[in-house]
Amino acid sequence: MTAGATPLLPGATLGVLGGGQLGRMFTLAARVMGYKVVVLDPDPNAPAGQVADIHLKAGYTDATALLHMANLCQAVTTEFENVPAQSLDMLAKHVFVAPSPAAVAVAQDRLLEKSRAQEFGCDTAPFANIEDEGFLVNAWTRIDGPALLKTRRLGYDGKGQIKVDSLDDLVAAFDHLGRVPCLLEGRLSLKQEVSVVLARNPQGEIAFFPVAENRHRQGILDISIVPAQVSEAVAERARDMAAHIAAGLDYVGVLAVEFFILDDGRIVFNEMAPRPHNSGHYTLDACATDQFQQQVRALAGLPLGDARLLSPVVMVNLLGDIWQPEPAWDRLLAHPGVQLHLYGKSEARPGRKMGHYNCLAASVNDALVLAETTRTELGIPD
Ligand code: AMP
Repeated sequence: MTAGATPLLPGATLGVLGGGQLGRMFTLAARVMGYKVVVLDPDPNAPAGQVADIHLKAGYTDATALLHMANLCQAVTTEFENVPAQSLDMLAKHVFVAPSPAAVAVAQDRLLEKSRAQEFGCDTAPFANIEDEGFLVNAWTRIDGPALLKTRRLGYDGKGQIKVDSLDDLVAAFDHLGRVPCLLEGRLSLKQEVSVVLARNPQGEIAFFPVAENRHRQGILDISIVPAQVSEAVAERARDMAAHIAAGLDYVGVLAVEFFILDDGRIVFNEMAPRPHNSGHYTLDACATDQFQQQVRALAGLPLGDARLLSPVVMVNLLGDIWQPEPAWDRLLAHPGVQLHLYGKSEARPGRKMGHYNCLAASVNDALVLAETTRTELGIPD
């Protein structure tokens, strides 16, 4: 199925696999533009289901539900990379699916994504594949130094990875991760972490959002600072690498690419997400077009919007840890530069992403001060 020659205009029906916060923000953006939206997610309380025209409450491999979705929609996208490959393949037989199942498959597997990134000219951390315990000694010999063992699939927010400093560590870590296929990666000395979020439409047009600098806490994104505090040359190189990946995969949709900037100044590909990204949430308030509207435009085969930054911004993630009781939002909103986004999740759990807010200010420094002040008021730990 192809799209692109004939754009899908408002009034058409778009589908999204997955009903989490990313699906919710996609759905809201699509509805603002006049599209109808079908969400597939088994959870009756899914954040995107609350705001969709139709919420199909079924599993991601439910063939009847997938066929129903294909019949209702003119194009379908996904909000999470771990959607079963066969579900995307099944949908793609009946309806335009973007990003393509092949591109999503690359992003699902750390070995594939790093190998493809190298083919597209990106540096990566040194890595060795581990299929089973027979690979451990060779992998350790290859990396031979401080390393991280990561599961090849299903890792996110720092989950599914363990620091390793010896062959004994590696054996124990592999056991701990359930002896599933893994990647052993050299542990690099990071100066900064940045991400490039871009959109590419079926015509091959690319629009870049400004590079974001990302800081994590306990493996989870804590804040994004935009513009990133990096040189223009570094930003240019990061955009260039992300564009090579997008073009190389003939990618359609919003793509997020995470890079490490090393102490020696090198830029290294870490991973990509075949969808809008937490580090792109600042675009909701600080860019002329946000990442979700861009996702709608790319999926519908429309021209992409202007991704220009309108204001310096710091995005702060809100995790369930501070929900005891739910924070006093009136105090947060007493700061006029703050824009609050909550995802409609009724149950707060530690580490669960409940929302975020964007701090807009005249300079990055002022935005950082606003972020710090409000984080302290909310009791977010440093
Ligand atoms: P990931 O799940 O690959 O995004 O890793 C989660 C976090 O672990 C990253 O944001 C980095 O802070 C850190 N990390 C991952 N890979 C490496 C590496 N090869 N060297 C140093 N730090 C890393």
